[in-house]
Amino acid sequence: MTSPTPQQLRQWDNEHVWHPFTAMQAYREEEAPIIERGKGFYLFDVEGQRYLDGISSLWCNVHGHGVPEIDDAIREQLDRISHSTLLGLSSPPSIELAQKLVELSPPGLTKVFYSDSGSTAVESALKIAYQYHQQKSSKSEVRRLFGTVRGAYHGDTIGSVSVGSIELFHTVYRKLLFETVSVPSPAAFHRPENMSKEESIQHCFSEAERVITQNADQMAAFVIEPLVQGAAGILVHPDGYLKHVREVTSRFGIPLIADEVAVGFGRTGTMFACEQEEVQPDLMCVAKGLTGGYLPVAATLATDEIYNAFLDAPSAGKTFFHGHTFTGNPLGCAAALASIKLFKENQILDRVHSNSELIADKLSSLAEHPHVGEIRQKGQMVGIELVANRDPVACYLAEHRIGHLVTLAARKRGVILRPLGDVVVLMPAPAMPPNLVEELCDVAVEAIEEVTASVSLN
Ligand SMILES: *Cc1c(COP(=O)(O)O)cnc(C)c1O
Repeated sequence: MTSPTPQQLRQWDNEHVWHPFTAMQAYREEEAPIIERGKGFYLFDVEGQRYLDGISSLWCNVHGHGVPEIDDAIREQLDRISHSTLLGLSSPPSIELAQKLVELSPPGLTKVFYSDSGSTAVESALKIAYQYHQQKSSKSEVRRLFGTVRGAYHGDTIGSVSVGSIELFHTVYRKLLFETVSVPSPAAFHRPENMSKEESIQHCFSEAERVITQNADQMAAFVIEPLVQGAAGILVHPDGYLKHVREVTSRFGIPLIADEVAVGFGRTGTMFACEQEEVQPDLMCVAKGLTGGYLPVAATLATDEIYNAFLDAPSAGKTFFHGHTFTGNPLGCAAALASIKLFKENQILDRVHSNSELIADKLSSLAEHPHVGEIRQKGQMVGIELVANRDPVACYLAEHRIGHLVTLAARKRGVILRPLGDVVVLMPAPAMPPNLVEELCDVAVEAIEEVTASVSLN
């Protein structure tokens, strides 16, 4: 059998593949690279073109592509079995990984519920929290409100969309969603005009306290992306905010769901972002980087307190009736175990620290750029907010697709980026060596300079 030619692939792609989060009409005219293989921090397309992976293949890759230790772990598992179910049965990789995750996670999290994406990890957490209140030993009650932070992104299934609030993604589904109460993001780029930055942060701290307190007896859980709201544009929360939310929720016995899907596995400089504020969540969701970004495995970790509410005679009906077919897939769990081992062996967290400093230094040249509104960074998560005008702040028109243009300009220079609206995102893999991190920053700066100079504002 001969392989299809690049032209055939392009044609079939345009005829048959509906890409996620992709404006298809524009995509079909753009001839995006068709990635055929990866090695280290590079991707290669079917035409043999090489690209630096500047976004960790959508925020999940950790150690690079084709890493022998992870590939071998998957192959060894492949020789045993590719998939068997966790519904009523078990498997060695899923058991070992659960033990490992509990060891690595903030204290108090002792149980691991597997799924297969960040969305399903959050969806599971929401359902667990909801059911928990009805079955807890202290007092059975129905609590149906979830607390959220504005601008949150927790995934694309209807439950995870309900607790999210990114207008562009979520507005169209509004009537399908369940009710939530939200608090203002303490890192919003567009803050009220009459407030200084400090006043606005103070306002957000007190609003969080007020909203949680007022709805305390109805609140099933409070969901938060710890330290960084990723999809909202890499919004970096002020110090102490996560701890504050934990303190207020604890006061009222409200479970805290930490969505570590994006920030987990080293990206902010610690294994989990919660560690930086010594916060112990009641439920914690992990996905993206869990397998080193190789395979779709996710997990929702829970405390004994929550898990115990689901224990009783089978006939009592307290079982968690939820689970996806490929839950705890053995190939994926084997990859995750290998990835976690590499964190220590290759001192990945140290690398994140030095890379973070390097990035901050390289991007400082943009600080005064007339079209850069803000540079936000936590560890190796970076968002560069582009604006038509700095003071007063004026956004680019949506039809300019300014972030997208920067992506195309970077692609010409052999670097893959993907923006969030007008925010240029850099998300190098935690293990990326410094010379490639420098190259990534240099190309991003050049691309931003080229595009902002060429887009006419009239
Ligand atoms: C990506 C992301 C999700 C969704 O994960 P999927 O694997 O894409 O379903 C959930 N929460 C956060 C914070 C994310 O960044």
